[in-house]
Amino acid sequence: MCGSKEYHILGKRLNQSQGSNPRNKIGVTTTIVRCKQCGLNYANPQPIPASIADHYGIPPESYWSKQYFEIKEADYKRELDLFKSLRRTDGFKVLDIGAGVGKAMVAMQRAGLDPYGLEPSEPFYKKAIERMGISAARLQLESVEAAAYPAETFDWINFGAVFEHVYNPDEVLARALHWLRPNGLIYIEVPNSNWLMATFARYYYRLRGTDYVINLSPMHTPFHLHEFTHKCFEAHDKVHGYDVALHKYHPCETYMPKFVAPFFQMLMALTSTGMQLEVWLRKKAQTLNG
Ligand SMILES: [Zn+2]
Repeated sequence: MCGSKEYHILGKRLNQSQGSNPRNKIGVTTTIVRCKQCGLNYANPQPIPASIADHYGIPPESYWSKQYFEIKEADYKRELDLFKSLRRTDGFKVLDIGAGVGKAMVAMQRAGLDPYGLEPSEPFYKKAIERMGISAARLQLESVEAAAYPAETFDWINFGAVFEHVYNPDEVLARALHWLRPNGLIYIEVPNSNWLMATFARYYYRLRGTDYVINLSPMHTPFHLHEFTHKCFEAHDKVHGYDVALHKYHPCETYMPKFVAPFFQMLMALTSTGMQLEVWLRKKAQTLNG
């Protein structure tokens, strides 16, 4: 994201859940490293699957429950409100990348926006059209890496649980910026590379005399390939013509006993070590020198 090739080694990551004593597990490991400049976490070497489609675990039909297709009023309200408060264009055209069965698209349409979507998995794509009533003209069965849209088409591009799964976040973001109108917004939510619980897990494994980490999952589900800090985007925006309009770290779960959870959530909030990072990026308006 920042262009630097310098890194610290965080430790080893197995191709499966590691448990409390990874030394007893059989498997393959890769090394997880952190960029010295911007704090991006990534696997080095980066394992590449024989087929990228293997990363989109396709659930069987039995997986679809009735509740799965329900859209609750509060589901996308926060993002919709933030978009409206940060918006500086006069348009409402949105691209939802990783649209799934189209729930966010439906919520966006209800909120008066003009949503389009990309979904690379065929079962999800089909359900969006058949079950959720999404128009086929609005949804492409395509990955963000392969999709094509004219330049400056959208006012908002939404990455729904996608950005931590792409192999080349730098290139994917550059593509999205190309499709975005000047002053348009990109919303990304990703895992924080400084998540407090992952740091504790590293200490725990050190105490047990191993060098394992729980950061990322490059070789098993959920296939998180990168973890980010807001500095990754601040470094990336220097060359790609956008600003970080807003960033926020969210504590989420602590995986700790209930009576200590509030303390750790407060600690995460105070030290920007929550599990998730949310960023809103605003593309700069065209300047005279380009
Ligand atoms: Zn970096």
